[in-house]
Amino acid sequence: MGQASDTELEVLNREAVHAFFGGRTGVLATMHGKERVIVPLLSEALGITLTVPRGFDTDRFGTFTGDVPRAGNQVEALRAKALAVTEQYGLTLGVASEGSFSPHPLLPFATLNLELVLLLDREKGLELMGEASTTETNYSRRAVRNLGEALEFAYQSGFPGHGMVVKVKELYNQPQDLAKGLNTEALLERAVNGALAKSTAGHIYLETDMRAHFNPLRMKCIAEATRSLVDKVYNLCPECGWPGRTKVLKRGLPCSLCGEATEQVQGVEYNCLRCGHIAYEVDLNRTTADPRWCAYCNP
Ligand SMILES: [Zn+2]
Ligand SMILES: [Zn+2]
Repeated sequence: MGQASDTELEVLNREAVHAFFGGRTGVLATMHGKERVIVPLLSEALGITLTVPRGFDTDRFGTFTGDVPRAGNQVEALRAKALAVTEQYGLTLGVASEGSFSPHPLLPFATLNLELVLLLDREKGLELMGEASTTETNYSRRAVRNLGEALEFAYQSGFPGHGMVVKVKELYNQPQDLAKGLNTEALLERAVNGALAKSTAGHIYLETDMRAHFNPLRMKCIAEATRSLVDKVYNLCPECGWPGRTKVLKRGLPCSLCGEATEQVQGVEYNCLRCGHIAYEVDLNRTTADPRWCAYCNP
């Protein structure tokens, strides 16, 4: 018998994944239009039906506009959301997504958008998370003194394709001091003038609206994170068929000159969290590392 081709493997994997989830109905914790990218990708790949409940308040787990602080760190908030939505709707499958923006650890002045999408299967006891990050984001804010400055900043930041937020004060906000989802000049003008009239400082704050339905760049990153989740699900254990093997890069490729271990990648180790099966994959085309990576030959 010959080796199965990639397409045959894909079909087999697909059948196995669909059988695993058994065509169940799951629920997606979102109220910001993320279903547009998440639902088609996941329902197709997992063979499930994903519903989007009306009236599930994801904002109580934290908002980008800062009026509700986030519950715990990004992963904790994500788990809390997925668990809450399955409990509320009495289902065993839940999906939640959560994003963050922070200064890039290596690139000065760049902002990193990290998106996480979590799949929680309470029937099988499975939790898998996909992630994607990008510096392609319009995350920014500016103090402005008049409508002209506000419009200039807005158009620089992708308005009106991307929405804006107007705040009277920088940090602390009463809900009445905050206007979100501004994606027309008329809406922006009214919010800016209203905030300026309330401001005692002579300036107000304008920010990009980072909620997914007002931010196409973020939506793109959420789609990427969902695809990464699908890849994880499709990483099935050859022994027990469980999805989501972990993947660890193994370093230590020997130097071609002296044979010492280098930091270059030697292979990939796959671990099944359920049965403990370990599979090791090496790149047969790379048996030794160039001496320039060697700490001894090229210190
Ligand atoms: Zn296994
Ligand atoms: Zn060497």
